[in-house]
Amino acid sequence: MDRLLEIAERIRRCARCRLHETRRLAVPGEGRAEKGVMIVGEAPGEKEDEEGRPFVGPAGKLLTAILARHGVDRGRDVFITNVVKCRPPGNREPLEDEIAACTPYLVEQIAAVRPRLIIALGVHSARTLMGLAGRKIAKIADVRGKCFEVRIGAVDTTLCVTYHPAAALYNPKLRGALEEDLARFIGGGGGLLKYM
Ligand code: SF4
Repeated sequence: MDRLLEIAERIRRCARCRLHETRRLAVPGEGRAEKGVMIVGEAPGEKEDEEGRPFVGPAGKLLTAILARHGVDRGRDVFITNVVKCRPPGNREPLEDEIAACTPYLVEQIAAVRPRLIIALGVHSARTLMGLAGRKIAKIADVRGKCFEVRIGAVDTTLCVTYHPAAALYNPKLRGALEEDLARFIGGGGGLLKYM
């Protein structure tokens, strides 16, 4: 079985942390690994929990639209997932122990995709991925808009950080910054050219 599908099957049955008690559906991630690009958000929201798919609510629609404007088809060109695979109740922030319990799945997905580029959306994603690479960050403002050459497990990759689209939904300043960052990370109008 495809490695990503096998990981997804385990995530759907997972009861490693308390979030399995309140989720409707776990959200392992979706998309294609071939182009070596991963987008990693923080945790599923209400719509994602209902559908078992990442970034399908309002924040996901914003992300999908920005990617499309820059020539990136989210189903074809990237693998999209979250640090935490089950929805925290009421969309609260994921807790440290939940992130710790779930991160091994993300590490396995990174080993399976072997991405040349990982885009971290939001502070929990940035902190977790930088942590896996042995680096600490205090706040997202310190790393937003920047890219780092990192090693996660046995994978050497470029990790770029920007705001989470949920934060950008109602804040035009963050929205502009998110769009600007994504355009730069994915190589402009040609779409992922830098990495293909
Ligand atoms: S959030 Fe992650 S660790 Fe917790 S139950 Fe869901 S899949 Fe398992």
